[in-house]
Amino acid sequence: MTVEEAQKRILSHTVPIMPPESVGLLEAWGRVLAENIVSPDDIPGFTNSSMDGFAVLANDLSQASSANPVTLRIKGTIAAGHPSPHSLTHGEAYKIMTGAPLPEGADAVIQSEWTQITGENLVLALSPVHPGQNVRRRGQDIQQGEQVLQAGSVIKSPIVGILATVGRKNVMVYRKPTVAIVATGDELVEPGEELEPGKIRNSNTFALAAASLAAGADPIILPPVPDTREMISQRFRQAASADIILSSGGVSIGDFDWVKNVLSAEGSLELWRVNMKPGKPVAFGMLHNRPFFGLPGNPVSALVTFELFVRPVIRMMMADDQWQRTILRLPLYEPFSEVHDRRHYVRSRLVQDGDNLYIWPYKKQDSAVQSSWIGAEALMVVPENSGPYQPGDLLPVMLLTGDVS
Ligand code: AMP
Ligand code: MG
Repeated sequence: MTVEEAQKRILSHTVPIMPPESVGLLEAWGRVLAENIVSPDDIPGFTNSSMDGFAVLANDLSQASSANPVTLRIKGTIAAGHPSPHSLTHGEAYKIMTGAPLPEGADAVIQSEWTQITGENLVLALSPVHPGQNVRRRGQDIQQGEQVLQAGSVIKSPIVGILATVGRKNVMVYRKPTVAIVATGDELVEPGEELEPGKIRNSNTFALAAASLAAGADPIILPPVPDTREMISQRFRQAASADIILSSGGVSIGDFDWVKNVLSAEGSLELWRVNMKPGKPVAFGMLHNRPFFGLPGNPVSALVTFELFVRPVIRMMMADDQWQRTILRLPLYEPFSEVHDRRHYVRSRLVQDGDNLYIWPYKKQDSAVQSSWIGAEALMVVPENSGPYQPGDLLPVMLLTGDVS
């Protein structure tokens, strides 16, 4: 089965979690908007100055220059945040701050840099301004009644700002899934505990929990289980309170790999083995009515299969239909000579050389080598049975950066 076929099968089981919920603005960050947002007001709500300077009538300054300054009488000062009962007429100016309401009669602002205050209440204008210069008109950004945001948008930082601007304190968003994480393996010891001979530290639980957070979900960490069918079955039942269940390890063809047996017996095994490297032994099915992923135990395989199969499900459950990562075609920086009969997801860096961006794979690509993830910003996607490749050859690259900003 190809990665695309597996994704299609897995996503055919996935729908957004209903109903949406109302949350505060910061909680909304990274979630998907579940309502259209209409502005109740004009933005800006009043015509105001975009500069510190002097509110004037543009016509008064049509001949102004530094050689031929125009003298205006200063009627007062207008600060931001205060109503403006002021008005001016020919020959007059108000000192005005950025964001302060324009006085009636004024049609432009000359910035401070082009003026010179002389004596009491007099200012010299050293340059002409055109009508509307340095003025933000009421409603020029957003008009009252205008739809500013559409349901389905991912709420990134600027959208949080726009929601606040149009007066929203709470907003309807789709829910985020909870992801239960169960590591399997007799060899696992928790970080902080002593390593006995033959044991290794459980890293997958933490890597997968962090990846779940980055994808927008809420991880639920369950204690790891040894390789016994009973313990695995019992822990998976505990995991069934979550929206998605992940296990790591025990899904291959080893003598103690019980995950698939438990899945088949207590749920349904929908797919096993995908034509990819790393991550081939990945399994997917429904368990206790939830999507279940049996991720391989090798730390790199666990994260690559999370990226390709679990992250899309998390995004879809949050109603983000843009779950695909950005794929670019980039030139290789160095030769890449590995050829495989499976599609190879190669941990890589991006490098800039001169004006060009290149993809630069790490040397060690073994699926147990975690150090090649450090600094990896992308997975280079090498098609099955292709290569070797030379510097400059173009290859598809999945960008891993920028979940939500
Ligand atoms: P498995 O898929 O159970 O055959 O495990 C494959 C490899 O991944 C073995 O070398 C395991 O020791 C290792 N492994 C399994 N689970 C974890 C884990 N939670 N953290 C780190 N390494 C693991
Ligand atoms: Mg194992």
